[in-house]
Amino acid sequence: MPHQNVDIPLVVAERRQENADHLTLVFQRPPRFGFEAGDWVDLEIPGQDLAGGKTYSFSSSPGEPDLAITFKVGQSPFKRALQEAQPGDAMRMTAYGNDYDFQLRQHRSSVLIAAGVGVAPFRSMIAEMAESDSSEEAHLIYLNRTEEFLFRTELDAWSKQLPGVRIDYVVTAGMKSKERRRILADSVSDAVHHYYIAGPPAMIEATEAVLMEAGADHDDIRIDSFDGY
Ligand SMILES: Cc1cc2nc3c(=O)[nH]c(=O)nc-3n(C[C@H](O)[C@H](O)[C@H](O)COP(=O)(O)OP(=O)(O)OC[C@H]3O[C@@H](n4cnc5c(N)ncnc54)[C@H](O)[C@@H]3O)c2cc1C
Repeated sequence: MPHQNVDIPLVVAERRQENADHLTLVFQRPPRFGFEAGDWVDLEIPGQDLAGGKTYSFSSSPGEPDLAITFKVGQSPFKRALQEAQPGDAMRMTAYGNDYDFQLRQHRSSVLIAAGVGVAPFRSMIAEMAESDSSEEAHLIYLNRTEEFLFRTELDAWSKQLPGVRIDYVVTAGMKSKERRRILADSVSDAVHHYYIAGPPAMIEATEAVLMEAGADHDDIRIDSFDGY
């Protein structure tokens, strides 16, 4: 359940340029603040009422010392302010949580489908699995326009460490939609309990349709819709 109307001060600890188009902002962790992998956060920049998307998934895991969000650079006033944030800058968390049960279940085989920066909540989930040396099964299908997959070094290390984790990196530029549909449909099997999809709304809709056509039950599909893209 989301925690609405909270007012938690945040201080930027670090900014990390992941690649030309993506930035990670790391915040000092507020005392006793806890969250679950798959949660999102609503941000505000004090003193400024800026138009733009303010909701971001935590890309850090609950067990990592700091909080992090990862986003695609943009043009809205809010995005520009986020892009210009420097260590020491203050922000506020006005809500955080999870809407549609977007959390991995124990002893359940999962397929995680990310488009672009949609990989952020899955980084959080897989980092958490690595922290506990989890033997759960998770198959990440990471779709990206280019070869510039976010967090690839870490993801590769975690998939080596965790026997149940498999990652397929899929470059979508120039790919025929039939081929893309085949890759997604092939992930559907009776052994899978839940499908998680994160990315832009249009991608989520299209992916849901392919999974259901291939036999997935609608109730087994969980979505994290990055509205605004
Ligand atoms: C639950 C949830 C979780 C989310 N998690 C994340 C997350 O982890 N990371 C994340 O990045 N977003 C996430 N989002 C989306 C985020 O909230 C914003 O909506 C999104 O980043 C777009 O930001 P913006 O509207 O401020 O505008 P911008 O990023 O400035 O984009 C506005 C519009 O302009 C387009 N645009 C941007 N740059 C260009 C350009 N150079 N040329 C032409 N068009 C351009 C964009 O495609 C978009 O349509 C999440 C949203 C939700 C609801």
